[in-house]
Amino acid sequence: MSEILYNRVALIGLGLIAGSMSLAMRRAGVVGEITGYARSPETRDTAREINLVDRVCDTAADAVKDADLIVLAVPVGAMGAVMAEIAPALKAGALVTDVGSVKKSIFEAVTPLLPHDVSFVGTHPMAGTEHSGPRAGFAELFDGRWCLIVPPDSANEADVVALERFWRALGATTERMDMDHHDLVCAVVSHTPHLIAYTMVGVADDLSRVTDQEVIKFSAAGFRDFTRIAASDPTMWRDVFLENKDATLEILGRFTEELFALQRAIRQGDGEHLYDYFTRTRTIRRGII
Ligand code: NAD
Repeated sequence: MSEILYNRVALIGLGLIAGSMSLAMRRAGVVGEITGYARSPETRDTAREINLVDRVCDTAADAVKDADLIVLAVPVGAMGAVMAEIAPALKAGALVTDVGSVKKSIFEAVTPLLPHDVSFVGTHPMAGTEHSGPRAGFAELFDGRWCLIVPPDSANEADVVALERFWRALGATTERMDMDHHDLVCAVVSHTPHLIAYTMVGVADDLSRVTDQEVIKFSAAGFRDFTRIAASDPTMWRDVFLENKDATLEILGRFTEELFALQRAIRQGDGEHLYDYFTRTRTIRRGII
């Protein structure tokens, strides 16, 4: 019999991440009741139809009013508005968390709106697919994946430890990280690679004679991966770049410098530069698998 970690959990936003959390919470048996709210009536209807959470509410306030843990699982740019909507309904002693892919801007948007007797600790499960919406979730999404725990300096240690236990119960491995560092690391390992995939698929699409049939027909694993990544939700990724502007621009600057150096090496027939570069990157791959 699993220990109940939170009696009531409210999920705001009922898409891929919230849906997967609900299914993983049920699998782990660590939560009493799971309530949920999403802005669109269609999403709420679908969530009811597939029994995604125990109770789908028609207002955000209703979903959070008795909750011990409230999870904001909406696009990054909507976190502040959602927090403003739920703040008056939160119970004393509740903990608010979010699962957004960017941490500093969410902290800045959410914490000024927190009632004095409610705490906030950010999290970021490093798991996803190119699918979105209430039908996209599955209980195994977080198994063996990182979930970064990003407590503000003012966080209560007991809240942080409880959230770590919660995410581990959902299958993830946790690590604590400072929010600025989180945003830089994610710009390197997730955000900029997504932008590169969007760009590469855009380039192929520009050559529409090729994409019409041949790109898909002949695409090898690399380009197929790009098309999968570039099929990710446009609202989510628009918000990620708008809200992680500084770190993404820093990494994009470095990326374009390296790309120009490779471009020059190709033009000048500098095989040594290309060989040395590819040898270095190959070593990195061997270090992570
Ligand atoms: P999703 O599009 O599948 O779901 C988003 C949900 O939020 C939908 O139910 C939508 O109806 C709802 N929503 C949107 N605006 C709202 C509002 N103003 N009020 C209430 N509900 C609203 O998205 P997702 O993939 O579950 O992403 C949710 C969050 O998780 C995002 O902040 C994203 O950055 C983060 N995240 C996503 C991934 C990923 O790969 N998909 C991974 C880690 C973290």
